[in-house]
Amino acid sequence: MKPTAPTITVIPGDGIGPEVTRSALRIMDGAGARIEVDERLAGVTAIEALNDPLPEQTLGSIRRNRVVLKGPLTTPKGSGFRSINVAIRREFDLYANVRPAKTILPGGRYENIDLVLIRENTEGLYVGVEHYIGMDGDPRAAAESVMIITRFGAERISRYAFEYARRAGRRKVTLAHKANILKYTQGLFLDVAREVAKDYPDIEWDDAIIDATAMWLVLDPYRFDVLVMENMFGDILSDEMAGLIGGLGFAPAGNIGADTAMFEAVHGSAPDIAGKGVANPTGLTLAACLMLEHIGQADAAERIRAAVSAVIREGDARTLDMGGSAGTVEFTDAVLRRLED
Ligand code: NAD
Repeated sequence: MKPTAPTITVIPGDGIGPEVTRSALRIMDGAGARIEVDERLAGVTAIEALNDPLPEQTLGSIRRNRVVLKGPLTTPKGSGFRSINVAIRREFDLYANVRPAKTILPGGRYENIDLVLIRENTEGLYVGVEHYIGMDGDPRAAAESVMIITRFGAERISRYAFEYARRAGRRKVTLAHKANILKYTQGLFLDVAREVAKDYPDIEWDDAIIDATAMWLVLDPYRFDVLVMENMFGDILSDEMAGLIGGLGFAPAGNIGADTAMFEAVHGSAPDIAGKGVANPTGLTLAACLMLEHIGQADAAERIRAAVSAVIREGDARTLDMGGSAGTVEFTDAVLRRLED
């Protein structure tokens, strides 16, 4: 008897979200993935339809299914509603943001990049503890944001990084931090990680200052393997790492909690190319592969990775960001043809 297909919550998002989500779903189907899709709204599209950026029916669907594939969601700059991405990560305590960066497109600045960044996803400056301070009649004379690091959070993410490294057969974990300047918050993170490292003598461990890490990632990325860091540093450096493999179009992310996980591309809603049919769907498709592994369908994930890699490497169809002229649909069709081979 065939095992029943798990239901996953799918949030297409906005901007290029619906275009790349449709591609990822078609490709999963073509690879024989067994899933049922429960499609829900969040962000701008949810405000338009239901006047709520994170409707209860979306939250209820995630609570039931415990697995989410999400397209990007636009967050207004400055004023307006707070990030729904951050809200979902916090609501379901998706504390580990796992962002692999692996070369697929040959001929870029580097060959054979194979790095994984693990970003703490619930603390740091992104807790949103911030306010204005009024002075001399100016209500916004100053502004203050609080960086929160807890022993619990630092230990949990450090342990996750080492467990991940062990499971994935990785050799080394590097903690990137700023403990030289932020002696309390980053100092606590460093002390905790150093203690956790003692439980993993089989994995090499070192630490590096975040600014130097940013430089070394450009000069010699091969010196790193798994990197772990607090929330905002991870946000910034994972985009830098996407740059090492040809850009944001190639980078997937898994937001992992104890009982719920959400998979998405690292990129945002790309308003500059939204609706033009030119977005590269690889980031979300590789995120779907992480999701399939998470639900025990690693065989389908492997088939998809092989097909995507063949299309890109052999140049069957390349999107604009890869230097080609194929649209999102043409690229997707090429992957589907490879899956049929
Ligand atoms: P972005 O990632 O949307 O775009 C940055 C650049 O990369 C743009 O030039 C864009 O065209 C290009 N790009 C991104 N994805 C691509 C793809 N798949 N194929 C080809 N090119 C691609 O970053 P941004 O412009 O800073 O942000 C736009 C919006 O997305 C903002 O509202 C931001 O808050 C939101 N955002 C959401 C998420 C998320 O949902 N997890 C992540 C990052 C940004």
